[in-house]
Amino acid sequence: MCLDVGECLVDETRVWSTWADVLGVPRFTLMATLGGCVARGEDHERVFDRLGRSDWRALESEKEAAFGGFRSGDLYPDALPTLARLRQGGYRLAVIANQPAARHGQLAALGVNADVMAMSGRLGVAKPDPAFFARALELMASPDPADVAYVGDRVDNDVRPAAAAGMRAVRIRRGPWGLLQDDTDGVAALVVGSLDELAARMPEAFTP
Ligand SMILES: [Mg+2]
Repeated sequence: MCLDVGECLVDETRVWSTWADVLGVPRFTLMATLGGCVARGEDHERVFDRLGRSDWRALESEKEAAFGGFRSGDLYPDALPTLARLRQGGYRLAVIANQPAARHGQLAALGVNADVMAMSGRLGVAKPDPAFFARALELMASPDPADVAYVGDRVDNDVRPAAAAGMRAVRIRRGPWGLLQDDTDGVAALVVGSLDELAARMPEAFTP
């Protein structure tokens, strides 16, 4: 099985709080405006335009320095226990997600151990591009896609494209995308509210 990072393993509150601080806007304003973008079906980068900060890319390194990489407190409390439980259950684990390349080492340092780990920033291809899911399957040594569950919070970036790639799409409903997006096509093989719930219900993702 393959897991997403943002709002699946990692709570991104500190990422967005750091952005608010670097931009000099109230955290509440940034968070709520981001939620509005998600609800409108807009790309999350639109939040910067709405805040009048289309120059945000120039501040990326300042944000990253202030953020300082993932810390253990950024992991959802059920992340590491679930990975351990799934591994004990015989599942091979992959963590392949839309993240900067540096997040790979940061996750490993926090104890996120997977058989395969890859970030879009290194791969040069990102979700929802079908090429991302094709590359993910290659990295997992080309299993039958139907034997792979892709677990993610976003219907647009995770659930739909993973299902289109022939994988079992598992939707985790946490974070703003998980709560605001609708799986109108009903393509998710399993919907859970947490990784704890996933660990308990994983076999259901593979029932026809
Ligand atoms: Mg995510």
